[in-house]
Amino acid sequence: MKKKIGFIGLGAMGKPMAKNLIKAGYDLTVHDLVSQPVEEITSLGAKKANSPAETAKGVEVIITMLPADDEVKTVVLGTKGVLEGANSGAILIDMSSIAPHTSKLLASEASQKGIKFLDAPVSGGTTGAEKGTLTIMVGGDKALLDEHMDLLQAMGKTIYHVGDIGMGETVKMVNQMLVGINLAGIAEAFVLGTKLGVAPEILYKVIRASSGNSFLLEHRVPDYILKGDFTQPGFAIDLLRKDLGLAMESAKVNKVPLFLTGQAYQYYTRASAEGFGKKDMAGVIELLEKTAGVQVRTKPS
Ligand code: NAD
Repeated sequence: MKKKIGFIGLGAMGKPMAKNLIKAGYDLTVHDLVSQPVEEITSLGAKKANSPAETAKGVEVIITMLPADDEVKTVVLGTKGVLEGANSGAILIDMSSIAPHTSKLLASEASQKGIKFLDAPVSGGTTGAEKGTLTIMVGGDKALLDEHMDLLQAMGKTIYHVGDIGMGETVKMVNQMLVGINLAGIAEAFVLGTKLGVAPEILYKVIRASSGNSFLLEHRVPDYILKGDFTQPGFAIDLLRKDLGLAMESAKVNKVPLFLTGQAYQYYTRASAEGFGKKDMAGVIELLEKTAGVQVRTKPS
């Protein structure tokens, strides 16, 4: 018999991840504040729960895939939260990107109720979530991870144990620093190149085959920037700003200067302040395009 799983947070990432668990034969109970994705997932055979506590009741594994620290704390520690409903012996796997110290807090609160914990944030975007090819970085007890490897493999392709509780989130935070810096760099470079008169498709084609290439260039330029559509489900500017903010906080506590991360953080903060927060992170280019009076778009043929 496959494990019973409670899944909370059916957003851009959580919904396709939950679908892959159903496809792999797991018995799912789901919860989200928004009804549309809940209906979509229940139509595939999952049960609906009305609170995090109800989601956690009677299941062996609870997975959370929520925006940020506050939402995870509310869902896990709050009234009618996961820890109120979960059975002793259950495991909570938090896959959201949050601060490492919050993971440690959750693990400590959970252990007082006999509930085990792993932090298991992901990388690979909505495409990776849909295809079940996410990279998952796991902090916590290795034996516990091995016990639940089957269900992580239903959502991801590359699963790494990276250390104790909070280390999964630490690795994710470091990854996000590179995402923020790289994408801000792509925006600047493509705006200048286009302003100087090179066709954006040419820039993309040539740089993709040159040393300036990167994962983000390969995905964000053709899928978002050249099309000029930043509204399809992707990775929201507000979420990237949150991740860079976590790195800045950690740098402050640990006295590590982060010049480039600081610049990138200001880019996404400005975009968020101008009302772009819900758009995909590649939408940060729109501000620079406006300033430079040029658009990095494929011309209709
Ligand atoms: P999202 O905003 O699309 O989804 C979050 C979901 O959580 C929403 O459906 C929301 O309604 C639900 N939610 C919020 N508060 C809730 C509450 N109190 N109770 C129940 N449900 C609640 O976010 P996402 O893009 O799916 O990202 C989820 C996490 O994964 C974030 O931490 C993000 O940084 C991380 N992440 C995202 C991507 C990506 O490409 N989108 C990639 C890797 C990691």
